[in-house]
Amino acid sequence: MNDCIFCKIINNEIPSEKVFESEEIIAFKDINPQAPVHILVIPKRHIDGADTLEKEDAELAGRLILAVARIAEQFHLGGGYRIVTNIGKDGGQTVRHLHFHLLGGEILKDSF
Ligand code: 5GP
Ligand code: ZN
Repeated sequence: MNDCIFCKIINNEIPSEKVFESEEIIAFKDINPQAPVHILVIPKRHIDGADTLEKEDAELAGRLILAVARIAEQFHLGGGYRIVTNIGKDGGQTVRHLHFHLLGGEILKDSF
């Protein structure tokens, strides 16, 4: 997607602080962290959001969650953490490229 910020991050057109990369997934620090650890985990292939996942994306979706869990270990979040994915305008999704927020490093408030 031409005007997608996260596609630009994937293509290194916008710099980011990457913490994980595989053939199909990257993870990088959120520019405006809401917790001591706030990482975004995204597929390299543009998918609008969790609402547009197709049946054939099921394994990718699973691997995204597994990547979040591995990154949480990397950041020593053994005490717990939160995975959030916002969907659409009403859900507060500001970047329309599927991403999972990994939030942790403190006792999290009820909402974020
Ligand atoms: P959403 O609101 O769509 O669930 O989350 C989008 C997230 O992307 C926000 O937490 C926002 O801070 C983050 N974000 C937006 N633009 C950039 C950017 O250019 N770089 C990084 N690292 N994060 C960004
Ligand atoms: Zn994109």
